[in-house]
Amino acid sequence: MPGIAYPGQIGSINIIVVYKSLLLFGAPGSGKGTQGKILGKIPGFYHCACGDVFRAVDVRSDYGKAFLQYSSKGQLVPDDITIGLWSSQITAMEHAGRFKPESDFLVLDGIPRNVSQAKILEQHVEVRHVFHLDCPDKAKIFERLKRRALKENRLDDINDDVIERRQKVYEIESRPVLDYYGEKLVTRVNSEQAPFQVLRDILNEIDLQKS
Ligand code: ADP
Repeated sequence: MPGIAYPGQIGSINIIVVYKSLLLFGAPGSGKGTQGKILGKIPGFYHCACGDVFRAVDVRSDYGKAFLQYSSKGQLVPDDITIGLWSSQITAMEHAGRFKPESDFLVLDGIPRNVSQAKILEQHVEVRHVFHLDCPDKAKIFERLKRRALKENRLDDINDDVIERRQKVYEIESRPVLDYYGEKLVTRVNSEQAPFQVLRDILNEIDLQKS
């Protein structure tokens, strides 16, 4: 995978940089971004949301055009484009000194979003914990997405059909990622709670992992 990790040399020993990571996982509107942003403010955590990486790209570029083409229909952007863009962003942040893989936990948000992405990332990203932000109340999700669409000018959530499609894509393409990582890694967090309670549950679990 270009750009994501590099072989280094110390004497005659080859080292490969592996990013220790935790994954925020859940349907659109489940609160991944909210939690990711808070976690990213804590020293030792670096947050990178895949959707934000796409939205920061010039819409006239090839990446930007692909993003608009797929996201406006509620579909996933193809894996090669997604992994390529995401990995170059992470590498750039690493080179800029904003993400320090030797000490920081990488907070994954919105990637991997299907099993094939999980497999591609596996070589360089060590997922130590998966937080499944679960919000069974679909009406609540719908309401959150509509509110966000107005606040953040998100084209993909303005249209009810696209919201519906995004939820379907999550069920069919993304949800199997939970089985891929398996029970040992996955913690379900009730994301119908207030954000501070969701955060508390996540932090308690990370703490348990360390002790
Ligand atoms: P949400 O926060 O609602 O889950 P995102 O901001 O993460 O949405 O993603 C918005 C859109 O960007 C997705 O619907 C998809 O088109 C594209 N996208 C983001 N991450 C990925 C990914 N890992 N693989 C493919 N497409 C992605």
